[in-house]
Amino acid sequence: MQGAKQVSQTLSHDIVIVGGGLVGASLGCALAPLIDRYGWRVAIIEGAALPESSQEASWQPSFDARASAIAEGSAQRFRQLGVWEAMQCEAAPIKRIHISERGRLGAARLSAKELGVSALGHVIPNAWMGRVLHRQLQQLPIEWYCPVQVAQLTPQASGHHLMLSDGRELTSALTILADGGRSGLKEQLGISSRRYSYEQTALIAHVGVSQPHQGVAYERFTADGPIALLPLPGQAMELVWTHTSGAEQARLALSDREFLHQLQAAFGDRVGRFTRVGQRFSYPLSLVTAEEPVRPGLAVLGNAAHALHPVAGQGFNLALRSVIDLVEALEEGAQEPRALGDMQTLLAFEQRRAQDRANVIQFSDGLVRLFGYSLPLLSHARAAGLIGLNLVGPLRRSLARRAMGLER
Ligand SMILES: Cc1cc2nc3c(=O)[nH]c(=O)nc-3n(C[C@H](O)[C@H](O)[C@H](O)COP(=O)(O)OP(=O)(O)OC[C@H]3O[C@@H](n4cnc5c(N)ncnc54)[C@H](O)[C@@H]3O)c2cc1C
Repeated sequence: MQGAKQVSQTLSHDIVIVGGGLVGASLGCALAPLIDRYGWRVAIIEGAALPESSQEASWQPSFDARASAIAEGSAQRFRQLGVWEAMQCEAAPIKRIHISERGRLGAARLSAKELGVSALGHVIPNAWMGRVLHRQLQQLPIEWYCPVQVAQLTPQASGHHLMLSDGRELTSALTILADGGRSGLKEQLGISSRRYSYEQTALIAHVGVSQPHQGVAYERFTADGPIALLPLPGQAMELVWTHTSGAEQARLALSDREFLHQLQAAFGDRVGRFTRVGQRFSYPLSLVTAEEPVRPGLAVLGNAAHALHPVAGQGFNLALRSVIDLVEALEEGAQEPRALGDMQTLLAFEQRRAQDRANVIQFSDGLVRLFGYSLPLLSHARAAGLIGLNLVGPLRRSLARRAMGLER
């Protein structure tokens, strides 16, 4: 995509989205009908260059080597945005989920069939989601500034002033902070965050398996840390192996052969033999929540608003629900009509989000705490929990519907 032309005057926009990652790009796509209806001038500013062609294997911070579990509810939302058909080309459906603990009897199983749905979710490479979303954005009248960083964000009488790293200046009535929370802009604005480090690091990689995975996603709690394996198209799976922070370094440094050997020993042979491993990446895991998700003329979305432990694969799914709710709130505000960035509109949005966000944080954080410690008694409680999960049908169904993003 082309950067905007260099001009000396300050450019004014109705909406500026800071960050064209998974969340910022999804929001851009979701705004299409409102841009059409109200003629809003919308811009996305993205700091990292995007891979120019679909052949190029270079990574961008949001659309990196990870694959994400996309809940059925999110698939429905992508359908609304008109991108699901393309997303599906590289997606693998999750037909069953198998949760177990190595060395213990308990196992919980969930299947799409028993819940009457075609899939419990879908696993899609982040890089592919990025390509599909950006291709869609190219069709829309959205101005795209890339690669350029927002260096400074300053509130002004009606909205914000943005200073870009290449010296350009913009103003916006409504600014959406979707920068992933690592750029320091939130702090610059004085928005504090609650942070809790899990002291855990996720090691992720694509692995080859000798048996067809048949659409089963595994979550296995082992003495070497929780191992999640998500089905990918073909005989491949996405590995998310959680380590106590620091312990992942030794595994990152192993030869492929030794790494596969250790993975096999820790996970067992439910998927047959691990045949190959791609490039390995690591992500330190924390729970971070922004204290003020909205302010006059500003909304904080995605990882900037809430970074979660990936154990339940909920972070982006939650963020996509925020994207849709924000667009609905903006539509209602426009009908009143209220100015873009009006606090009444943003508070209505935040009220819709608060409960869902609290539920998902509690659910993900609760899972980490339940399975994160290795006290013997707790192990029994966990096993009982896993067995119980199989027995208590309505609870299990409700849990599954929540994980699928069909229930809030
Ligand atoms: C190991 C792991 C596995 C996960 N698995 C799942 C899963 O299975 N399912 C799920 O739902 N979620 C999952 N998540 C969570 C999911 O990845 C995040 O919710 C999602 O990436 C958040 O996207 P984002 O766009 O908010 O932030 P990011 O992905 O961090 O994107 C932010 C973007 O903003 C840009 N940017 C930053 N600063 C600036 C600036 N100053 N100016 C301009 N641009 C800027 C960056 O270049 C980047 O493109 C997982 C997370 C991890 C760590």
